[in-house]
Amino acid sequence: MYKKKINSLVLGTNNQGKVREIKKLLPKNINLETPKKLNIKSPLENGRSFLENSLIKAKYFSKKTNKVCLSDDSGLEIDILKKRPGIYSARWAGPKSNFKVAIKKVYKELEKKGITWNKNVKCRFICALTIYWPNKKFFQSKGVVEGIISRKPKGKNGFGYDPIFIPKGHKVTFGQMTFTKKSKIDHRYKAFEKIKKFF
Ligand code: IMP
Repeated sequence: MYKKKINSLVLGTNNQGKVREIKKLLPKNINLETPKKLNIKSPLENGRSFLENSLIKAKYFSKKTNKVCLSDDSGLEIDILKKRPGIYSARWAGPKSNFKVAIKKVYKELEKKGITWNKNVKCRFICALTIYWPNKKFFQSKGVVEGIISRKPKGKNGFGYDPIFIPKGHKVTFGQMTFTKKSKIDHRYKAFEKIKKFF
């Protein structure tokens, strides 16, 4: 099964920001379906880690469609918040996926910790990818990008927490970077490098 290159798959996510970014990482000739197009809702993510949740999604969407599924579970870990929002990153945005709400919550939680911004607020984006085949075999990978929280949200590119994340070694947020730049250093790209042999 692994020897045969994947030429058709379902993307295991209803997050349109992720759909856009994953599509750009995959070879152009792959036949892609999305749960949105097929009208399939997302499963309950009750795993305890990014890897567990990524597997839950990949298995679920593969079973629903009888296709190979590539899923992504990702999020932002902030050290001083005991790694929150972590696997709850999407949930901090509420039922309407409003990231202005999630970002406000980050600053509110940091304020509660008495942050004065004279020290870096260390954090990282983590991405766990899973490829799940209809014969129940699966393969997983993980990518991490370290960074700090920006004192203020900046930039309109990307999605989710991009406006508040400054990757290590850079001066601007992911929200201020073009996709081409972000996608050469981010967590998703790093995880994808480890699975690209399947495509
Ligand atoms: P989930 O993997 O669907 O549970 O959602 C992960 C959440 O983490 C997303 O909704 C985003 O808020 C956040 N996230 C993951 N990757 C990125 C990224 O590359 N940029 C900004 N936010 C991200």
